[in-house]
Amino acid sequence: MRLRNITGSRDIIAESDFVIHDETKRKGQWKEIFGNDLPIRLEIGMGKGRFIMDMAEKYPDADYLGIEKYSSVLLRAIQKMEERVEKNENLNVRFIRMDAEYICDVFEEGEVDRIYLNFSDPWPKDRHAKRRLESRQFLERYDRILKKDGRIEFKTDNRALFDFAVEEVEASAFKITALTYDLHSDKDLMQGNVMTEYEEKFSSMGNPICKYILERR
Ligand code: SAM
Repeated sequence: MRLRNITGSRDIIAESDFVIHDETKRKGQWKEIFGNDLPIRLEIGMGKGRFIMDMAEKYPDADYLGIEKYSSVLLRAIQKMEERVEKNENLNVRFIRMDAEYICDVFEEGEVDRIYLNFSDPWPKDRHAKRRLESRQFLERYDRILKKDGRIEFKTDNRALFDFAVEEVEASAFKITALTYDLHSDKDLMQGNVMTEYEEKFSSMGNPICKYILERR
């Protein structure tokens, strides 16, 4: 997802209290940002942030950080967050604008409880495989920042990307503990499911949604 460059988006982001601006200085200290001792959960590639805000509303027993690479997209998430705050919603959500490639500079070993990857960019060319958020290179980064019993959850309607993701697990510290090629027909995995923007769009077009959950071996 890349939205048209919106004039002034960098200024709005720079002034937003919902965005953490000095993320590398927060390494090992994320609990202080939220002022509580709740587990920290990330959505990497959050887009406009609907999933992470709905998660925070539905499951307030955790703190949530949405990571997004593009300012123009993050701006939309900030606007949505402002609308929800106006409705008196008090959400444990903050945003970081960064490329997830550098995630180990931002989180200490074992600092993260859960990672959500939703409808990640597919990077279809073989030579770009390591940019996919489910590649072995990214799984190694997640292995460093996730706590011992941490978990990764991935959803997509892109079967080629999902097949690649499943193959990559073999080369990682993780194992698949749940998997479906049709989430919306899977009663168990659908329990408590929170739809993302892309999930709503693609499932309404009839595309089956694949999902896996990873835990450490
Ligand atoms: N997760 C949302 C959903 O399911 O509705 C948005 C999905 S959108 C296809 C993927 C998003 O991931 C885009 O907004 C893109 O900018 C972001 N993204 C892709 N690679 C990223 C990276 N390396 N670091 C941070 N964000 C990334």
